[in-house]
Amino acid sequence: ADAVLDINGLVRHFTGPAGTVRAVDGVSLSIGRGEIVGLVGESGSGKSTVGRCAVRLDRPTAGQVTINGRDVTRLSKRALRPLRKDFHLVFQDPSASLDPRMTVGAIVGQPLRLHRLASGDALRDRVAALLAQVGLRPELARRRPHELSGGQRQRVSIARALSVDPQLLVADEPTSALDVSVQASVLNLLADLQRERRFGCLFITHDLAAVEYLADRIAVMYLGQLVEQAPAAELFADPKHPYTQALLSAAPVPDPAAQRSRARIVLSGELPSPLDPPSGCRFHTRCPLAVDRCRTEPPVLRRLAEGSGRRQVSCHLVADDGTAPDASAPENA
Ligand code: SF4
Ligand code: MG
Repeated sequence: ADAVLDINGLVRHFTGPAGTVRAVDGVSLSIGRGEIVGLVGESGSGKSTVGRCAVRLDRPTAGQVTINGRDVTRLSKRALRPLRKDFHLVFQDPSASLDPRMTVGAIVGQPLRLHRLASGDALRDRVAALLAQVGLRPELARRRPHELSGGQRQRVSIARALSVDPQLLVADEPTSALDVSVQASVLNLLADLQRERRFGCLFITHDLAAVEYLADRIAVMYLGQLVEQAPAAELFADPKHPYTQALLSAAPVPDPAAQRSRARIVLSGELPSPLDPPSGCRFHTRCPLAVDRCRTEPPVLRRLAEGSGRRQVSCHLVADDGTAPDASAPENA
């Protein structure tokens, strides 16, 4: 198929003294070549676990992860090693993922060395070119991570991830640890590099303005499951799931001309614990529209016969033709 990433029925449970944390519970998601998919949801919804499983930094409890047509779900570390150049993860906090003892040049060149793609002068030249591509001066190659700013460190981790020309990049909150003043420039950099190189990208974030700008398609996650998935423009124009409506209603609108008509939806309560998710629809404890059925019967994610036909929603109250109630006015629903 033409997907760089295909996740099918992904489950990741963590069992500890307090019980079983159902971090991810049946997520299916695919990313086409050159496509950017935004994965959004509150912290604790399981987004990062999906990302870590997608690049096999974590092993799924059940389900299947296919990268470039190859099933990597149960491959050992050793078997994964030669494949690793095709998929990379850029972390939220670059300082934690960059070895403080290594120079920037050694860090950026490491994947090229490990995969024996360059050495000697060729390696030095590649590293210099990569630093230039992420907007860093060549002298920085001799510095160590702690001598750089947060934005520069994130540029280093992007250069390292892209050094081997991966087909898939998973970016987990790549700008949330950065100063607001440099977030936009790092996002622009990612967008430019993606346009040039056409890698598939899973962009994990809680920043809706960022996904609206970057993503082709958006998947919304709530407590370990996807509740809605749609092309970005369709999702932003007309969110169907009550949770998506609430998320969008809380997001600042950068362009006042595009002011959305929906009123602010304030969700009651906190995200429930993934140790003991609510019965039925997992969102029912906070959903302004919940009815009796929601407490007992879990809705299934299903495709709507509307718009591009690439839209999926899991809510009992959304009709197959896409008719959806307005969660900001539950009395009219
Ligand atoms: Fe709300 Fe029920 Fe829809 Fe769940 S299924 S989102 S509780 S209306
Ligand atoms: Mg996270």
